[in-house]
Amino acid sequence: MAKKEKSVYQETMHLPKTGFPMRAGLSKSEPARLARWNENHLYEQLQKKNEGHEQFVLHDGPPYANGPIHIGHAMNKISKDIIMRYHAMNGYQTPYVPGWDCHGQPIEHKVEEALGTAAFNATPTAKIREMCHEFAVENLDLQREGFKRLGVLGDWDHPYLTLYHEHDAADIEVFKAMFDRGMIYRGRKPVHWCKHCHTALAEAEIEYADEVSPSIFVRFELIDVPDELKAAGVPVDVVIWTTTPWTLPANAGVALLGEADYVAVEAQGRLGIMAKALWEKVFHGVAKLEDARLFTPEGADAPWCAHGEDLVGLTYKQPIFEGVTGRVVTADYVTLEDGTGCVHTAPGHGVDDYYTGVRCDLPIIMPVDDDGRFYVGDTYGTGGPFSGLDTDEANPKIIAWLAERGMLLAEVKINHSYPHCWRCKNPTIFRATDQWFVSMDETGLREQALDQVLNHVTWYPDRAKNRIGAMVEGRPDWCISRQRNWGVPIPSFTCADCGEKVMNDATLDAVIALFKAEGSDAWFTKAPEEYLGDACVCPHCGGHHLKADRDILDVWWDSGVSWKAVCENRPELRYPADLYLEGSDQHRGWFQSSLLTSVGANGVAPYKAVVSQGFTLDGQGRKMSKSLGNVIDPNKVCDEMGADIIRLWVASVDTSTDVAIDHEILARTSDAYRRFRNTFRFLLGELEGQYDAERDHVAFDDLTPLDKIMVARLTQVQAEVDDAYASYEFNRAYRTLYDFVVTELSNVYLDALKDRLYCEREGSLARRSAQTVLAELLSMLLRDLQPILSFTCDEVMAYTPEGIRDGQEYAALLDWYRAPITLEEAAELAPVLDAALELRAVVTKALEDKRSEGAFTKSQEVRVAATVPEASYALLTGDGAPDLAEFFIVSEVELTLGDEVSATVEAARGERCDRCWNYRTSTGAHGAYAHICDRCAEALEA
Ligand SMILES: [Zn+2]
Ligand SMILES: [Zn+2]
Ligand SMILES: [Zn+2]
Repeated sequence: MAKKEKSVYQETMHLPKTGFPMRAGLSKSEPARLARWNENHLYEQLQKKNEGHEQFVLHDGPPYANGPIHIGHAMNKISKDIIMRYHAMNGYQTPYVPGWDCHGQPIEHKVEEALGTAAFNATPTAKIREMCHEFAVENLDLQREGFKRLGVLGDWDHPYLTLYHEHDAADIEVFKAMFDRGMIYRGRKPVHWCKHCHTALAEAEIEYADEVSPSIFVRFELIDVPDELKAAGVPVDVVIWTTTPWTLPANAGVALLGEADYVAVEAQGRLGIMAKALWEKVFHGVAKLEDARLFTPEGADAPWCAHGEDLVGLTYKQPIFEGVTGRVVTADYVTLEDGTGCVHTAPGHGVDDYYTGVRCDLPIIMPVDDDGRFYVGDTYGTGGPFSGLDTDEANPKIIAWLAERGMLLAEVKINHSYPHCWRCKNPTIFRATDQWFVSMDETGLREQALDQVLNHVTWYPDRAKNRIGAMVEGRPDWCISRQRNWGVPIPSFTCADCGEKVMNDATLDAVIALFKAEGSDAWFTKAPEEYLGDACVCPHCGGHHLKADRDILDVWWDSGVSWKAVCENRPELRYPADLYLEGSDQHRGWFQSSLLTSVGANGVAPYKAVVSQGFTLDGQGRKMSKSLGNVIDPNKVCDEMGADIIRLWVASVDTSTDVAIDHEILARTSDAYRRFRNTFRFLLGELEGQYDAERDHVAFDDLTPLDKIMVARLTQVQAEVDDAYASYEFNRAYRTLYDFVVTELSNVYLDALKDRLYCEREGSLARRSAQTVLAELLSMLLRDLQPILSFTCDEVMAYTPEGIRDGQEYAALLDWYRAPITLEEAAELAPVLDAALELRAVVTKALEDKRSEGAFTKSQEVRVAATVPEASYALLTGDGAPDLAEFFIVSEVELTLGDEVSATVEAARGERCDRCWNYRTSTGAHGAYAHICDRCAEALEA
């Protein structure tokens, strides 16, 4: 149809009209819509609608309550909302209880910053906890408003907070279950320790960064010397390498590689034993001792050489403490890449060292206190000559001390990757301390957890399974104690009379009851005898003076037991949950802590399925940071473009990997949004106030062939979209719908229908047939897009005819779309559309060529003579063949059999109808009308 020129018959035509605005104005309309949802309790209505139906429980992973929402949060919550809206439309009961992680070091750190460290240290624990509590609640309010603005439906007035009393109690209930199964133990172990934050750190709290460290090569003098080396008549050493000189006071052994060759190097009037593969590098390269050479015993024809395992048991003088003996052992982690092949082993200061110490019965010495200072004293186990020094201060002093005694072979500086504290960014140290642990192997927790993740949980994407599997397989025992204030205490007591640790079912039950009633704050304000009752007794000495210990649980424990505190406790939820969805960093965080506590307490994973998502990066794949100026603030995008644009962006990206967002990407998303909006507007223009399902609906069998083909196509698209949502691949749903709307509907089908819609007689089968398909399309798009474009689809509802909106006011309450025919039926019709589209491509090309020659302006002015091969010919001339002239928007298509698909364009026969501007041989005088076609005459008479 022409746009500028107006038909004189325009008022007799059915031109589109709808109140649905072309301009979205989302940033203004969305808040008003939200207010309406809120006032009318949309979330509660949704729960009511599906009450008694099968549940679908997506358990929310609690974000940390320490700042406004960022785009990663937005992606997380929108993804969850998409899933829940989809399931709700499918009839599931979809309770969504959002949560917040409220305890932990980051919040305590903010409070410490606000107070200043000196004031913080002088403030009583109860007061600090009160301030932390306030901070958490303020921040979660901020986040809650941000999440609601994104259109996320949930029980926002009744979230779960890890600081609730019931959550505190659940922490201890799970602890007790695992304690009773023998999984929790107290052990001395090297843990990452931050001397600035005074706490043990979990692997997840460690960041690796480059650090310059002293790298020293040190001679440890042997006490017993291998016979063949005695003849040399000089002192014999084993040469070690270390980058942490401060750990030398805790040295207890030297580990060699059993199968490697070791040699003795003559230099500086001594022999030094070290790996054959490295001696030149060390003596010539690093120590610059040009004349160093291998020692050959007299009469031997080759330099002395021994396997590491042959040297096991040799003893040496501990480098710092006189009279203390160290011992040579072997270990399989020793490599011949760096150092000397002789590894300084301090079981109190390293994980590998610790296990070697336990295996070889070396003493586990740990002379460093919580502040990272050496204990004062002169015996092994204290700082000795370095008493009272900080580990960093001790490093150069120890090096000087070794040099003075002729033990320092060489010293250089190296730059290497070193563990740092995630909060204060300072380097951490390894320190064996008394901590509480969950044993991964003692009672088979690792094995059970692995079985659950590999065989009983579905992972999206599938590769996430291997990722968490590898992490569970390789992880050490879980250190669950922290030396902080803001958390749930580990429920242990110390007997003031005999020093015994006291923890048993009676004390645990009393603590659970206390936390249920008063929360974990009571631990810090009440004396144990006030709540322990008869349990306030030391089983060891019978004393009644118990002191509450001060360690708190790892914050991952808090969120990890939400399956208990929330899924199991809240009546609308269930355990195990159907789905957890979080970022891929939660493989070592929440996915894992939830798994270990649930398997530990009950033997089953807390989730049946897990969706793992990537991180949000900028358009160039960089992390977002204030300094780069590439931060996309979701609140701001809502204010400027609307939440539906962020929602559409989430749906458009492959969330299973890292995803990109910047202003350019958002602008493209906004363009895509307009395509969807315009399609809604077109559909509403033909249906609003015009289509009455009861009056106008045409049964599938009575549709025109072209309309049948479109219904078949729609059926296929719907199946694809349905499958994509069910597999949590929103971007596949988005892509499928976008391509359908843009390349099929807008560019082809909807254009072809305009003639019938505008010009056919009102109530005619041809027009009703077209309207029926448009109604199906609207019905489908409204439902398929509702999980994504939640605001816009809700807006569409007000203009949507009664019969296609389930009698609902809100789009969220719609039922999922069901296509009118089956996928099999659709498949039968697909070849006709394929053949028609194949021909259309050739016709379009021919039309373009002719039009550029100036042969015509509107395609209605021409007719097409086309040929197609036999198979297509049969399809395009058979019973199911569409009206090709209508489909291609030309006056006539003359189809003949040919070898290939071809098309030629000629002038149309007949004359132009003044009403519809189609060229028809029937055009002429019809009664009162001067120059119109048959079809239009009939329409006018009606
Ligand atoms: Zn720190
Ligand atoms: Zn006692
Ligand atoms: Zn006409």
